[in-house]
Amino acid sequence: MTMDLKKYVATVPDYPEPGVMFRDISPLMSDGKAYRYATDQLVDYARSKNVDMIVGPEARGFIVGCPVAYELGIGFAPARKEGKLPRETVKATYDLEYGKSALYMHKDAVKPGQRVLVTDDLLATGGTIGATIKLVEDLGGIVVGTAFIIELKDLHGRDKINGYDIFSLMEF
Ligand code: 5GP
Repeated sequence: MTMDLKKYVATVPDYPEPGVMFRDISPLMSDGKAYRYATDQLVDYARSKNVDMIVGPEARGFIVGCPVAYELGIGFAPARKEGKLPRETVKATYDLEYGKSALYMHKDAVKPGQRVLVTDDLLATGGTIGATIKLVEDLGGIVVGTAFIIELKDLHGRDKINGYDIFSLMEF
């Protein structure tokens, strides 16, 4: 059975600011069959990469990565915004359209040599996933793939993570 997942993405013009077309995946998440179908494909991809661990950035990276980790019986570690993690962390900064932002991971979240799949809901400019990859590598993990529900082709995020394998379920 194949499903057309694009039917489950709501396109919201001028959100969060004028000129931006926001791709909202919440209809996909709230439909059990579509969520499972999307997750199953991400699981197949993760299996093909022999993954030991999943890492996803706050917050939609959790929605995408956690069910994959559960299905494979492996761990999930979050990359979080400032002030959210209680123990010692590593930090990676990345550029936003205006200014900078940062993500953090616990120092013991990934063990050296672990094969890591990085997940998020959407690849846009690649800043968020680039910072997440940097955190994993700072901890000694090996990023064996990146997986998304959606890739926005026009924003060329792919160029920012050149050299890493990229899997996405749909493109806009
Ligand atoms: P990037 O860092 O690649 O420019 O942006 C990707 C990050 O911003 C992801 O964490 C994603 O959740 C969020 N994001 C940016 N644009 C959109 C969008 O149109 N839809 C959704 N669902 N998330 C977006």
